[in-house]
Amino acid sequence: MPELPEVESAVRRLRAAAAGKRVARLELLHPSLARRIAPAKLRSLRGARVRAVERRGKHQLFILDDGRVLHAHFRMTGDWTVGRAGETLPRFARAVISFDDGTRVVLDDPRALSTLDVHPRGADLSFGLGPEPSDSALTAEYLQTALAKRRGPIKPALLDQRLVAGLGNIYAAESLWHARISPHARASLLAPKRLAALLAAIRKVIDRATGARYTDESVSRLAVYDREGKPCRRCRTPIERVVQAGRSTYFCPTCQAD
Ligand SMILES: [Zn+2]
Repeated sequence: MPELPEVESAVRRLRAAAAGKRVARLELLHPSLARRIAPAKLRSLRGARVRAVERRGKHQLFILDDGRVLHAHFRMTGDWTVGRAGETLPRFARAVISFDDGTRVVLDDPRALSTLDVHPRGADLSFGLGPEPSDSALTAEYLQTALAKRRGPIKPALLDQRLVAGLGNIYAAESLWHARISPHARASLLAPKRLAALLAAIRKVIDRATGARYTDESVSRLAVYDREGKPCRRCRTPIERVVQAGRSTYFCPTCQAD
């Protein structure tokens, strides 16, 4: 699942490929996308200039010069393929944004869960997101206050974009391992010192991530994610996997004891 570093990397490529250009056509190749944007609205995008490409959490925004916003979210397996009109489409092409200079970006998504939406000028685009890891508003005190009301364990809480924007399943697990915090620890009971360690770990993990595709060799450098049964990189205890709130959690039962 693309997380903040991967989405930031995608946004940079998208910005290089799209900013300043005029949209010639947006084609929706998958029915789930076609249901989201009516044909008349699709046609109305023709000729709109992409003023800027921005990221908010894991949301990607094409800011158009008429104030409207084309909003993309990769969900599980989306990515952009940049190319030129007339080239063979990738196998899992779901949408094509063609520009008036003959270039295009293709939304390539094997699982077809990505979304595209058009928001009117002036729409609220905060998406209820909490601060990002790089944001100075994200402090141990903020985490303590935000987590005080929560009943459950820390790992699922870290996936809530209202708490911290951009963190997903991979980097939440990695951060907890670096901070030596059990994924089962009650979120509301974590002491300020441990929250400070968690915050430092989140920043370290996010900064270290290259933004390479999460399916690439970046996975082989991970400490716990997808390493069930393999030795902990710190203490050699086999990494365990549990399911929390429907998502796999990987952790070291020794380093991250309750
Ligand atoms: Zn360990």
